[in-house]
Amino acid sequence: MERTLIIFKPDAMNRMLVGRILTRFEEKGLRLAAMKMQRSPREQVERHYAVHKDRPFYSALVEFMTAGPVILAVLEGPQAIAVVRNLLGATDGLVAAAGTIRGDFGLDVQYNLVHASDAPETASKEIELFFKPEELITWDRAPDRWIVSR
Ligand code: UDP
Ligand code: MG
Repeated sequence: MERTLIIFKPDAMNRMLVGRILTRFEEKGLRLAAMKMQRSPREQVERHYAVHKDRPFYSALVEFMTAGPVILAVLEGPQAIAVVRNLLGATDGLVAAAGTIRGDFGLDVQYNLVHASDAPETASKEIELFFKPEELITWDRAPDRWIVSR
């Protein structure tokens, strides 16, 4: 089992797409381990995207991610990190494959709806940045025995 951090970005919030996108993750079989809404403090966003701090899009990205509230979630499942990245598609909605979330709902490289962790090390760092340990919930979900065979 893996856990991955998801952020419904301000464009997904303002375009009222959170429910439809969350449905895709649920339909895939992924299980929520945590979820909350917040206005992200700028310093937290800067830390989250620190790897991009020298890129030309960094300051616009920080502005975008603090322009309105977001919903943070932790999703759990076998190889959840790669599975969620595949569901999202390429970073740029213009080139993301049809059938992916970014391919189906977006036309932009910045406004690409959802963040998802890209590797086990970043996933655990990001979950720690946005959630307290006690906010993560381990639970038995009824249909899981028909979603994962072993
Ligand atoms: N981004 C951007 N311009 C770019 C590349 C990325 O505005 O040329 C934004 C976009 O919102 C993206 C985020 O910066 O999701 C982080 O970039 P990254 O390359 O890590 O993309 P991701 O991992 O989200 O696919
Ligand atoms: Mg990234």
